[in-house]
Amino acid sequence: MEIVQRVSHMIAISKEAIRRNQAIGLVPTMGALHEGHLSLVRKGRSLTNPLVVSIFVNPAQFGKNEDFSRYPRDLDADAALLKLEGVDFVFAPAAEEMYMDPFATWVVVEGLSQRMCGVSRPDHFRGVTTVVTKLFNIVRPAVAFFGQKDAQQSVIVRRMVQDLNIDTEIVICPTVRDADGVAISSRNRYLNAEERRAATVLVSALRTAERMIAGGERTSRRIADAMIQLIQREPLAHVDYISITDGHSLQPVAEVAGAVLIALAVFIGKTRLIDNLMVSAAA
Ligand code: AMP
Repeated sequence: MEIVQRVSHMIAISKEAIRRNQAIGLVPTMGALHEGHLSLVRKGRSLTNPLVVSIFVNPAQFGKNEDFSRYPRDLDADAALLKLEGVDFVFAPAAEEMYMDPFATWVVVEGLSQRMCGVSRPDHFRGVTTVVTKLFNIVRPAVAFFGQKDAQQSVIVRRMVQDLNIDTEIVICPTVRDADGVAISSRNRYLNAEERRAATVLVSALRTAERMIAGGERTSRRIADAMIQLIQREPLAHVDYISITDGHSLQPVAEVAGAVLIALAVFIGKTRLIDNLMVSAAA
């Protein structure tokens, strides 16, 4: 496994792989790797060769008062995990190389980027789509792997690839959860023991919604209200948003019909966590 830090070197490696007709796989991450990331890596390993994992804490996707400076970084530990998974290249560029001064070009997926997480994080998805475009141009992947954990991100990346005719297949992998159901996230590291216990309210609220729909409830407002009530019983939690939307357009649905994306963001103490579930209503 080679750790590549220079953009120019990564481009040379990709060019050579493409010359050899190899289908490059890319798993974009911000590091602080956990089982959720590794599930993407394993899927990538099974489908593509060579496999590149990028590790880049992308400043452009953090808001001014967000956790960019304290976001966990441990390249040595991440590299050790990726070596065990048989990864070929870890691409870990410096921020100065990815965003040369001055930097003026942004990729924006309009509409989809303003909803849900985009309300409280207005520039977040612009940062994501810009860095993913840059990573795609540098690594030239035939296939790129993303997690359902970040459902809105997955929808936006798919839209971008379609709109801009990017020749990369997007594979979305299921959310990996801890034994108590909490979606694994690098930000779970911020939680103290009491907050970690409180973090179960996200998945509990999603499962409440799922049960209600299985029981025949179809009115989104009533489902969202039940979720809010459950979360309000947890003193350490406060809701950022709850959304019940069409899983492709991310448009809110008043009545549940077919498959819907139920997504939420909740602050546990100072830490903002997200989770979601795709739920199908029986016809
Ligand atoms: P991040 O490092 O948080 O930017 O995540 C990198 C990729 O891993 C994204 O595509 C995430 O959706 C995915 N990911 C993060 N956590 C999980 C999880 N618990 N299950 C599945 N995928 C995940």
